[in-house]
Amino acid sequence: AKELGRDGIALFTSEMTATVRKKLSRTDELRQALLRDEFVLHYQPQVDLQTGRIIAAEALVRWNHPSEGLVYPGDFIALAEETGLIVPLGEWVLQTACNRAKAWQDKGLEPIRISVNVSARQFQEKRLIETVATALTESGLDAKWLELEITESLIMKDLAGSIARMYELEKLGVKLAVDDFGTGYSSLSALKRFPLSRLKIDRSFIADIPHDADDMAITSAIISLAQKLDLEVIAEGVETEEQARFLVESGCNEMQGYLYSRPVEEERFNLMLENNGGI
Ligand code: C2E
Ligand code: CA
Ligand code: CA
Ligand code: CA
Repeated sequence: AKELGRDGIALFTSEMTATVRKKLSRTDELRQALLRDEFVLHYQPQVDLQTGRIIAAEALVRWNHPSEGLVYPGDFIALAEETGLIVPLGEWVLQTACNRAKAWQDKGLEPIRISVNVSARQFQEKRLIETVATALTESGLDAKWLELEITESLIMKDLAGSIARMYELEKLGVKLAVDDFGTGYSSLSALKRFPLSRLKIDRSFIADIPHDADDMAITSAIISLAQKLDLEVIAEGVETEEQARFLVESGCNEMQGYLYSRPVEEERFNLMLENNGGI
């Protein structure tokens, strides 16, 4: 039994080592990927529910892995966050997204907003302000076209710090949206103190519309809350016509989701912009 136990422990330890080793080598790969320029941005349209036109794009990062193909953020953002690599990666994302938005404008296309996700670690870094300022200066993009998406849970983790950081960003002229809204626990009174432009209703509330009466009640409550606080509101994860219709009827401004388009490569998004309003 003792021997078995010893074997058990030995096995357990070597498994642990394997996990740690795997994580270390994945971290190394991520670091290499940054140097080798293996990340790409895909863009998903955000659509005005009144006009049906694209008025914004969310930039979503993917890893063009040399042997694994396209790797989605669900498979590397957490590790990047844990190891701090999210900071240089986030800088790359910000700069690339701003450059792209400016390039669209320079082509004579109707200007659209660009939304960039900012994770907790990035948001806590002092140099975020400098990073954003640099991305704007280097791209030449007017700050009013850049929107940063931060999650509700991130804001609530350090309320005072977050509010201060949000005001610094507002001073630069960029817009702020609360991502995954409704899943955290923001006190509604706190919401009023944030320099926010937009609430982004989490897709978990949209998914079961029109079958889930509770989700419909929550969604329309968020929309009217936004209206009362003078905020714009966008629904994410809109996949069906029925969901879009419900949102229009509830007074929602914008939507994003597979119904209109999945996130697409830059070239594809270019084409969509060129045909914008053609539906
Ligand atoms: P998110 O910010 O909530 O982004 C929306 C996610 O929902 C995207 O997944 C998008 O592809 C997906 N989606 C869009 N429309 C629909 C729909 O109609 N139905 C369904 N089921 N899903 C839809 P993606 O691209 O895999 O990104 C996952 C998460 O990774 C993002 O969630 C965001 O939190 C994070 N992420 C992506 N890019 C970045 C980045 O550049 N920086 C940081 N910090 N995080 C990022
Ligand atoms: Ca987002
Ligand atoms: Ca979201
Ligand atoms: Ca539900």
